[in-house]
Amino acid sequence: MVDKIVPRKVEKLVGVKGMNDILPPDSARWEALEATVRELMSRYAYRNIRTPILEQTALFVRGIGEVTDIVEKEMYSFEDRSDKHGQAEHLSMRPEGTAAVVRAVIESNLLYDGGKRLFYMGPMFRREKPQRGRYRQFHQVGVEALGFAGPDTDAEVILLATSLWKAIGLTDVRLELNSLGQPAERAQHRAQLIAYFEKHADLLDEDARRRLHSNPLRILDTKNPAMQEMVAAAPRLLDFLGAESLAHFEGLKAILDANDVTYTINPRLVRGLDYYNLTVFEFVTDRLGSQGTVCAGGRYDDLIVQIGGKAAPAVGWALGIERVLELLKEQGTAVSTCVPDAYAIISEVTDLPQVMRHLQALRSLGVSVQMHTAGPEGMASFKSQFKRADTSGARFALVFGADEMRQGQVTIKPLRDATQTQVIQPLDQIEQWAKSLQSPA
Ligand code: ATP
Ligand code: MG
Repeated sequence: MVDKIVPRKVEKLVGVKGMNDILPPDSARWEALEATVRELMSRYAYRNIRTPILEQTALFVRGIGEVTDIVEKEMYSFEDRSDKHGQAEHLSMRPEGTAAVVRAVIESNLLYDGGKRLFYMGPMFRREKPQRGRYRQFHQVGVEALGFAGPDTDAEVILLATSLWKAIGLTDVRLELNSLGQPAERAQHRAQLIAYFEKHADLLDEDARRRLHSNPLRILDTKNPAMQEMVAAAPRLLDFLGAESLAHFEGLKAILDANDVTYTINPRLVRGLDYYNLTVFEFVTDRLGSQGTVCAGGRYDDLIVQIGGKAAPAVGWALGIERVLELLKEQGTAVSTCVPDAYAIISEVTDLPQVMRHLQALRSLGVSVQMHTAGPEGMASFKSQFKRADTSGARFALVFGADEMRQGQVTIKPLRDATQTQVIQPLDQIEQWAKSLQSPA
């Protein structure tokens, strides 16, 4: 005797907080953006680099800086299982891309024959409070130009970003620029900054008080509204820059001006990561609330040495894909949706083997085709198949009826354009008419 199977209520499993599924049709917008990025990178001769999700925790502690939000509280870190010597590695999921790119560049000695222009795309992980535009798994596109010291390269990466905005139709961003100078200049400024903050100690929040001596520059980056006014009047790093740093800044501005890139100087722009010097910049928008930074970057001439490589200058940026797509949506910019060219309607289950052969031929000729699949009772009625064809968004229905199949033909019925007429085409000459089904774009 077979036991009766009693259905048991199974607890529903859900995804991890702050980590999203990217589902169709939305995923088509991601693919379109990624395709545009790849195309643009190759036009600027930036080449793709792919590093692992996991790195030694020490890489990020050294690379990003110990006294930063990311390293202090946002990393997903764990101790791996011990190897046969009883040693366990401390690993972290990457919270950003630059440190790993620099590690890989050093490890493979990529700069042995001169500078390198690189780009990456992929998920990053930070344990932040999830909200609109801020997630625990999010995605970045980043560029890193390593081995180039001049302001022309700062300008190049900024121009690349503005070309990307143009290519995807993003209009509501503005560029903010600043220079952080060199370590010696920052040290002078730092002393005065600490004195200033000490004078206003009553206004400092807990984070700021803790950073007052370890990383006072970062206090300028505060998001606390109660501190904004006091921070706005703090001593400006720009006023401490020497001739060389100023010349670099002027060089960058001259190139941006010649290319009609508009920007504002924001003396309080310091960036959340520790490794920057000279140029820092952000592309910001007012349309995404407090998650208004879409793309951010700058120069990091000391990072390579800090991670153990031979000194080499570098500049780069990273953009948040979620924020870019959100902003495009906010702007009402039309986004590509992915619809098949044709929808195949089939009357007899017994014709499936032959029909599927023809669909394979169409696809290999570049036509995108969705097929109506058979259910347990065979093919659905023509009426319900046509209904599905309509909701699929396809521009044509390919009707493989019993008569058509007997005569080696298919009826092609336009579904969207009333000016087009229905035609019958021979199945042994698919190459002759396949192109007529493809979208003109
Ligand atoms: P924010 O000031 O918004 O926290 P950040 O200074 O931490 O940004 P970067 O580390 O410079 O950001 O990362 C570059 C870009 O990556 C940001 O400008 C943003 O577009 C995106 N980004 C950073 N953190 C997140 C996140 N948690 N969720 C979604 N996008 C993010
Ligand atoms: Mg942040």
